[in-house]
Amino acid sequence: MKISQSKPSIGREELSSVNKVFQSGWLGMGKQVFEFENLLKKLFKRKYVIAVNSGTNAIHIALDSIWLRKNDEVIVPSLTFAGSVQPIILCGAKPVFCDVDKDTLNMSEELIRRKVTRKTKAIIVVHYGGLPCDMDRILKLAKEKHLRIIEDAAHAFGSIYKEKLVGSFGDITCFSFDPIKNITCGEGGAVILDDKKTADLIIKKRILGIDKDTWNRYKHKRSWFYSVKERGYRYHMSNINAAIGLVQLKKMDFFISQRQKIATRYDNALRKINGIQIIERDYRKVAPFNYTVMAEKRNNLMEFLQNSGITTGINYIPNHLQPLFKSKAAKLPNTEYLYRHIISLPIYSGMKIKDADYVISRIKEFYNRKKVTKKVIEQNMP
Ligand SMILES: *Cc1c(COP(=O)(O)O)cnc(C)c1O
Repeated sequence: MKISQSKPSIGREELSSVNKVFQSGWLGMGKQVFEFENLLKKLFKRKYVIAVNSGTNAIHIALDSIWLRKNDEVIVPSLTFAGSVQPIILCGAKPVFCDVDKDTLNMSEELIRRKVTRKTKAIIVVHYGGLPCDMDRILKLAKEKHLRIIEDAAHAFGSIYKEKLVGSFGDITCFSFDPIKNITCGEGGAVILDDKKTADLIIKKRILGIDKDTWNRYKHKRSWFYSVKERGYRYHMSNINAAIGLVQLKKMDFFISQRQKIATRYDNALRKINGIQIIERDYRKVAPFNYTVMAEKRNNLMEFLQNSGITTGINYIPNHLQPLFKSKAAKLPNTEYLYRHIISLPIYSGMKIKDADYVISRIKEFYNRKKVTKKVIEQNMP
């Protein structure tokens, strides 16, 4: 048996949706992209949804549009994908890495507060594993300190915070639709917000700073005319990607309930195993992107599972330990502890319960063996 940590759930419907785009001959941004945006607008009940070509670029364009500049500081958890952090660097600003709580893997208001300085301009909040951060308190802190909040909700598409969908409230929310996220466009992302001024800027920056209004105004008289008003990027989504997303959106509820079933199955079994500590989450509300636990002899367990055909991962190698940042970064005790113990088990929408049961049985086997591996694999810190 071979089980990968994650994989996309795509099929014939997605392919035939892409086929329609081929037949239309309009591959770039057009009908399908705007339809995808409108469906998301309805889903989240927000004024603006701007579809882009990746989650990382969603974060970059959001940061760029709040006029993040040199020497500004942005607070971000270290325990996140590099895609949450590189956009800060692209803006020439400074990432300030924040620790996370061991029992949620999220930043708390207290931990964020300790990192706020006069130079802080924004906070990138990551809802790790789909578990929403304590947004009421974090939004209040942001208001008090005049900071912008960018939610990196790449893990939390479909998660619910206090009866509200993540993405339906707050300042600016960014999603990713890369191949393994809760829904995929192949590649893609979206920026979601209500603020008109910021949205207008993002809409221009998404396509090379070109002002679409002037474009439209002159469309009939001078269809060749356009004006470039802002520094911009080539970040718009293509119809090909949106066509995949349109089908995936219809399957969203099914995908999420499948993921919730797998996570609940894991929780119920792993809770009883000595050596494993689960992260308590309410899977009636959390739409899990990954399923992460803390494990004793983590590296040995990973190797044992790999030998059983099960691929696992470490989400993530803390950013403050990466070569790019290491020399300047402050210590983050919880994050460093977590890095030594976390393991992400296979989870994806197409995963079968019997696959999860196989993973569980191998983990049980690992901790039950009489002669537990003599050699503890050395931690390989970057
Ligand atoms: C996937 C992911 C991103 C980046 O999204 P891409 O679409 O892959 O660029 C950012 N942050 C987190 C936490 C992610 O998991």
